[in-house]
Amino acid sequence: MRPSWVLAMGKSRIGGNIDFSMGEAPAFIVDDLPTGFPSGFDFKSKGCTTATVIGNKAYLIGGGHDESSTVGVQIFDQTRGELICRVNPTVLGTQPKPCKGPKGHSAVLLNENRILIIKKGSTPDDCIWFLEVDTQYVREQRKILGTEVVAWSKGARGDAEKPIVISGPSGVGKGTLISMLMKEFPSMFGFSVSHTTRAPRVMEKDGVHYHFTERSAMEREIKDGKFLEFASVHGNLYGTSVEAVEVVADAGKRCILDIDVQGARSVRASSLDAIFIFVCPPSMEELEKRLRARGTETEEQILKRLRNAQAEIEQGQSSAIFDYILYNDHLEECHENLKKLLGLDGNVTASPKSSPKGVELPMDLSISKIDQKVIIKCESPEPETASKNLIVLDLSSLKGGAPGRTRGLDVYAIDSFSDGLSGFNQPT
Ligand code: ADP
Ligand code: 5GP
Repeated sequence: MRPSWVLAMGKSRIGGNIDFSMGEAPAFIVDDLPTGFPSGFDFKSKGCTTATVIGNKAYLIGGGHDESSTVGVQIFDQTRGELICRVNPTVLGTQPKPCKGPKGHSAVLLNENRILIIKKGSTPDDCIWFLEVDTQYVREQRKILGTEVVAWSKGARGDAEKPIVISGPSGVGKGTLISMLMKEFPSMFGFSVSHTTRAPRVMEKDGVHYHFTERSAMEREIKDGKFLEFASVHGNLYGTSVEAVEVVADAGKRCILDIDVQGARSVRASSLDAIFIFVCPPSMEELEKRLRARGTETEEQILKRLRNAQAEIEQGQSSAIFDYILYNDHLEECHENLKKLLGLDGNVTASPKSSPKGVELPMDLSISKIDQKVIIKCESPEPETASKNLIVLDLSSLKGGAPGRTRGLDVYAIDSFSDGLSGFNQPT
């Protein structure tokens, strides 16, 4: 039988998937090469697990079996006439590690612009990934980089709460206010740990206060699209990685970013929907007093920070970046005002959000897609879960995407059914 994707590629140009782990590859390699296809290319031995056809392109996904590598992507492109070119695209976003075991993953084409990847036998937090092939982000990056681009995005359940961006001149008290908020509501907020090229202060810990990094390494990661924003501040490079914000949301917490006005402007222009707060000092004299009293900067650095403060305050107060301006005169009062604008001044319960129970995916599974739901049938369920051998991925409320997570995924197990889809039960 001719694999459906070769038919799709040569003739009708619709999308489809082929799963090489199901034994379909040899037929494809030996019998069904369309004109111009690189003969003798053995997808299976190269570890490619699936091919998904979208229009004139086939996306081969898989390869890389050792723990340290990532799942590979190659594109076979028939756009220019009959000749099919093999392209190694620029791969952006956080890339998945290869699946354990020989079965690899399954692929499902969604909306012609992204491919859902289901890693077999993976842990609940690592089993759902999206390979974006023609989303807005991918199209933008293709234009910027001038190469073929694909981007990975990890699937995450539920929604993330709006992050809070806090800006203000150095020494105004941002760090102090953030510490007070996090101390009072430890399970509610998480801090976005920025990268910086400045040297650590005496009490600062790498990975806690900042990721202290070399300029060349940070510039390389910026080029690789790993940063949500970055800016040169007081002579050093500072930046927020996409991952810094996502790990806070993964922990079910609301992310707080302490970044300068340039960074806030970049985040405002990005797809991240956040609340923007600017913290003002009561006067320049008081700001200088606080900076000196903190005792963490040299005289030269203090003067540089004070020089920059004036422009930052003007921008913070006049630009349309910020939703709120807070005056930090009396610390306790400012802390109360911050809580008020975040809706935390009443009887707020600070209990942790319970994370949904994970559903582990088996090695053997088959997949079907019905509207916005993907049904995963476990072929050899464990005896104790045998009555719950169907897993549903509800994709109807997806949000976000590369270079960050794709959120809003709903995953639940349902009872097996005997009379088709009418047998669906309530999510458990
Ligand atoms: P930032 O993070 O904005 O650079 P910090 O939080 O480090 O500023 O605060 C600078 C210094 O000012 C610290 O020593 C802090 O204890 C002090 N401070 C913060 N807020 C107040 C305030 N309202 N009144 C007096 N001192 C303050
Ligand atoms: P400090 O050196 O005092 O820790 O920070 C100096 C300035 O850098 C502060 O205004 C702080 O808000 C800003 N900053 C810290 N992290 C980031 C970041 O990731 N991005 C940007 N744009 N600014 C940052």
